[in-house]
Amino acid sequence: MARKTVVTGAEHQGQIPPGAPPTKTAFAFDDPEHDDDLRPSSLSEVVGQRKVVERIQIILEAAQNRGDALGHLLFEGPPGLGKTTLAMVLPKEMNSDFQITSGPTLRAPKDLLPYLTRASEKSILFIDEIHRLPPAVEEFIYPAMEDFRVDIALGEGLNARTVNMTLKPFTIVGATTRSGMLTAPLRDRFVNRAHFDFYEHDELATLLMRNARKLKTSLTEEAALELAIRSRGTPRKANNLLRWTRDFAQVRNAPNPISEAVTKDALAMIEVDAIGLEEMDRRYLTTLITVFTGGPAGIQAIGHSMNCPPDTLEDEVEPFLLRQGFIQRTPRGRMVTAAAWEHLKIEPLM
Ligand code: ADP
Repeated sequence: MARKTVVTGAEHQGQIPPGAPPTKTAFAFDDPEHDDDLRPSSLSEVVGQRKVVERIQIILEAAQNRGDALGHLLFEGPPGLGKTTLAMVLPKEMNSDFQITSGPTLRAPKDLLPYLTRASEKSILFIDEIHRLPPAVEEFIYPAMEDFRVDIALGEGLNARTVNMTLKPFTIVGATTRSGMLTAPLRDRFVNRAHFDFYEHDELATLLMRNARKLKTSLTEEAALELAIRSRGTPRKANNLLRWTRDFAQVRNAPNPISEAVTKDALAMIEVDAIGLEEMDRRYLTTLITVFTGGPAGIQAIGHSMNCPPDTLEDEVEPFLLRQGFIQRTPRGRMVTAAAWEHLKIEPLM
């Protein structure tokens, strides 16, 4: 699932060196996936994730006092919780450069090389979905992380030789939704690891009030809380629901600030229920209930029945259902719980 557009600081400034990896430059600002206008621009603007932010503040201050690059950082946690956002704030705090790429787009060492050679001192290289780096690229990255050096193999057969290239001291920030899929050697090369948790309702409500102002609208506190409750604990979802509610209120000529009642009407129209379940979640649960009589069922089988990639289900759908206590993951597969039957108002079959 390559979701992030690959954009580098150098590209913005028109300094793409020849041989740079293929990058997409189209950057749709009205695309909720790339809501850059809503991203915090400093660490103090980051809402929630207090434990992660406090630790980063210490690492930052210590590195800045020593005049060093930050130690490599690994961000773990479900999508939409702010891993990319926090990584983007770091270079602003360090006054350094930022590059972004992702595991699946780095198919061979040659795809990674331009990023490494372009990395300026103390800059951040953000690698999303780092658990999907192919083994050859992973091997190639080890000396870059440990000794700021790459070993480039030139020629073949008898003429083969290895050239060493020194890199500037820089920082890799890796993000993963599946920390369990990371190999031990790669995981061990990250000096700092941070786990991102779902956000509390009051944190999301604060974020929504602020982001509403950035979008030149406003919400009553009750409306912000209603949106927060239905945002499944993620700022990404909160921002998407906010944009939709703003559009809805505008077209319906609703008064400003947007009220709780208008918010509820807006969310009813896109079928987001009282606790934030969407069509896809309901389809997952009803598939598990009707096709697999409540489970246990393997994720592949559920994916086939829903005609949806199992990876998407694991990343986008299951974390919230697990947290909500609607499904259980057992060694034999996924099982639906009594709480889910109850929420969907379906009588259990057994
Ligand atoms: P991830 O990389 O974990 O998938 P992102 O960093 O892309 O998540 O976050 C999705 C969106 O949510 C961002 O565009 C940003 O606007 C918003 N966001 C995420 N975390 C925060 C935060 N802590 N404070 C404010 N906004 C946030």
